[in-house]
Amino acid sequence: MPFIRSRQQNQIKLQLSRDLVRSIKRGHAWVYSNALRDHPKAQPGAQAVLSDNRGGKEIARGYYDPKGPIALRICTTDPSEKLNDDWAKRRMHHALALRKDLFDETTTGYRLFNGEGDGLPGLVCDIYDHSAVIKLDGNASDQFWDLQGISEWLNNHLGVRVVYKRPLSREDKHGEVVFGNLPEGPVPFYENGIKFTADLVKGQKTGFYLDQRDNRERIRKFAQGRSVLNMFGYTGGFSVYAGLGKADHVTTVDSAKPALEVAEDHWNLNQLNPLLHHIIQADAFEFLKSANKQDYRWDMVIIDPPSFAPSESAVPGAIAAYEKLIRAGAKSTSRGGLLAASSCSSHVTQAAFLGACENGISKAKRKSTVIGIYGLPSDHPTPLVMPELRYLKFVLMQLD
Ligand code: SAH
Repeated sequence: MPFIRSRQQNQIKLQLSRDLVRSIKRGHAWVYSNALRDHPKAQPGAQAVLSDNRGGKEIARGYYDPKGPIALRICTTDPSEKLNDDWAKRRMHHALALRKDLFDETTTGYRLFNGEGDGLPGLVCDIYDHSAVIKLDGNASDQFWDLQGISEWLNNHLGVRVVYKRPLSREDKHGEVVFGNLPEGPVPFYENGIKFTADLVKGQKTGFYLDQRDNRERIRKFAQGRSVLNMFGYTGGFSVYAGLGKADHVTTVDSAKPALEVAEDHWNLNQLNPLLHHIIQADAFEFLKSANKQDYRWDMVIIDPPSFAPSESAVPGAIAAYEKLIRAGAKSTSRGGLLAASSCSSHVTQAAFLGACENGISKAKRKSTVIGIYGLPSDHPTPLVMPELRYLKFVLMQLD
């Protein structure tokens, strides 16, 4: 069963133009196009051997993208390791072993392969019960990985019955069923014993924000007796946890009506009292502005907006938007209440985000104590030397 499509016989040679050997040996898995001496013509996804910028010593193997900004994704720095199906199989088993340590039958929605963090560059695979959703990072990844073989492996080892490949990019609208048949409607799964559903085809990310799992659990712990406002609530992940944590009542705000309807379904699926949950379709900025005007407050406010910074140049605008939201969120938080602020923009560092929290809260004329600063859960591992992959920040604060 092949797991990769490009073969060693066709391996091309690449050479660094800069001394990146140390960072590569430490586990950085990307070589940018501008760090290569030449850009030979080759198929995207072709196997490549990388040598250093001096004597031409071989230092790594991976696969090549002649057109993209990431020209080489490194698969191994071990000179004795061949890049073949056995290599891929070892990595997949290693990834599965970590998830077996992390989850039991109470959590059937999780990330199985987290690309570079599992030593499987460009390959992301999320499991929702007996369904798998694959997200490949661009054309070279698409050409390198063999999804037929991987699907059979998923079927053998996890009993996966359907594998759906999400579109490669925002411009590309076409996902594809690569194995089995898509079930009708969203797929039910469990997270910490809580029932949710994921729409594999139309949902955001791969259908659910699996990356906030641990942070949702944190919200559950603090919810008891509190009124909760969940901004950018999507399908109500934080809301349901707050409800199960015995929140007084929960308000979920999002601009997308279909997501809010699913949030309502999720609430009811978990036998929560429908009278204690309100969904509001609104622009978050407008909603908070009007809540502030009426001096409306909640005991716990969660702010988890979409990524505001798709590129480095968008960072200043993103920081300003975070600051504005956090200011409005702080004004909406009761005295002694909790404010949870999250950012999933990889270009915004933790320090910069904490700066936005500090400024926003100060502009609301409030003071804050940090209860915890959190990030990605353990099924989203990352190489230590690739902080750019640790995109998620989640700051839980108590306001005076
Ligand atoms: N907290 C969610 C994930 C949030 S994703 C979870 O844990 O599952 C971001 C959400 O913000 C999306 O559902 C999107 O519809 C919503 N959104 C984007 N822009 C918005 C805006 N200006 N006002 C309100 N909601 C917005």
